[in-house]
Amino acid sequence: MSEQIRFNLTENDLPKRWYNINADMPVPPNPVLHPGTLEPVTPDFLSVLFPMELILQEVSSDRYIDIPEEVRDVYRLYRPTPLLRAVRLEKALETPAHIYYKYEGASPVGSHKPNTAIPQAFYNKAAGTQALTTETGAGQWGSALAFAASLFDIPVEVYMVKVSYQQKPYRRILMETYGAKVFASPTEHTQYGQSVLAADKDNPGSLGIAISEAVEAAAASGGAKKYSLGSVLGHVLMHQTVIGEEALMQMDLAGEYPDVVIGCVGGGSNFAGIAFPFLRQNLKDGQRTRLLAVEPQAAPSLTQGVYAFDYGDTAKMAPIVKMHTLGHSFIPAPIHAGGLRYHGMAPLLSALCDSGHVEAVAVPQVSTFEAAHQFARHEGILPAPESAHAVRAAIDQALDAKQKGEKRTILFNLSGHGHFDLAAYEAFLAGQLTDYQYPEDKVKAAQAELPEVALAA
Ligand SMILES: *Cc1c(COP(=O)(O)O)cnc(C)c1O
Repeated sequence: MSEQIRFNLTENDLPKRWYNINADMPVPPNPVLHPGTLEPVTPDFLSVLFPMELILQEVSSDRYIDIPEEVRDVYRLYRPTPLLRAVRLEKALETPAHIYYKYEGASPVGSHKPNTAIPQAFYNKAAGTQALTTETGAGQWGSALAFAASLFDIPVEVYMVKVSYQQKPYRRILMETYGAKVFASPTEHTQYGQSVLAADKDNPGSLGIAISEAVEAAAASGGAKKYSLGSVLGHVLMHQTVIGEEALMQMDLAGEYPDVVIGCVGGGSNFAGIAFPFLRQNLKDGQRTRLLAVEPQAAPSLTQGVYAFDYGDTAKMAPIVKMHTLGHSFIPAPIHAGGLRYHGMAPLLSALCDSGHVEAVAVPQVSTFEAAHQFARHEGILPAPESAHAVRAAIDQALDAKQKGEKRTILFNLSGHGHFDLAAYEAFLAGQLTDYQYPEDKVKAAQAELPEVALAA
């Protein structure tokens, strides 16, 4: 008899609540600081950028927050997402381990990002926001927000990193199809963009610069426009917990419970989405699942960064938070996993790593693509280069179990598909990909620019 490989939920199983880990954090929260004064921010400062409902979610200590029906209605377009067992990959690896994956590439834009884009568009619409501003690197987040905003009928302005705008047109075209306005950042529309271009008219842009421009565009709009962020913040991580809540039910259908849960980390949202509900079971229900975050060696904030207060963006306009950081002025090497090129990490995840509740590992680019290639050949799905980091770690876990002769149940989040990343696969197949060594000197230089924060005890 062949093994069951799909564990299907119905529309009725779609979670009704998000899980808010603030309620169960084993360590107290750190303050969020104003980038100018270095003092704790006031709700006034945040309300320039975000609608009140999202600010309240950010600071809420309620364990569960109801998902509005309007949001669940849109989730129903693609949720619950599939959970599968990778039996062909297991056979190829000759491992006694069982490998399960949750497939978030099933969303209309091909990643987990709509899980937060949809509620963000909904709450902004409800608050009367006239337009949203945001940044995007290669376009995953921009296309998710453009999709969500088109359903709730809000205009979107996307500041897209200039090199991606020029070299990766397809996600830009997708955003424009959904009705978004897409600008190549640095632009002449913002003062910060102008200052960057004045210093270097050929500046290729970076995610940090694009964030600064999107924040400025919202802050300067007199309340008409709000800013939307696709990762890092607590409410974003919370919106993603639908992934883990579904996975708990699906693992139950499979009759197994994971020994290890794995996800890739850029800002930390898809990992938190799958891992936090399992962490709750560890904290509240006596489970002992290992939670493993996987980052690229080229931007290793959790494994090599310092745990310190730092700016969220390059221009020092975004709030200062305590996180694992490589330094806000650090610009990671141009690896193909654009979504993992961020200098910092979600504060909630940083705190949980610091307290030992979450583990982290960094993997190099070439072996990451080798894992994705192996996965595609046995399971059919072509992983996004970001998600490939989780695939690498899952295969490494399966090989470790084999070497030790252990049964092990592995669950990883396949955060997206790679259909817009075929140029990266082309380079891989041609043997043209390289590894980037950890840039110790550049990180040291960037970390010398951390803000000096003196907090009242
Ligand atoms: C953006 C993105 C990531 C990284 O962001 P997180 O907030 O860390 O999840 C990972 N995978 C895919 C497919 C992405 O689009």
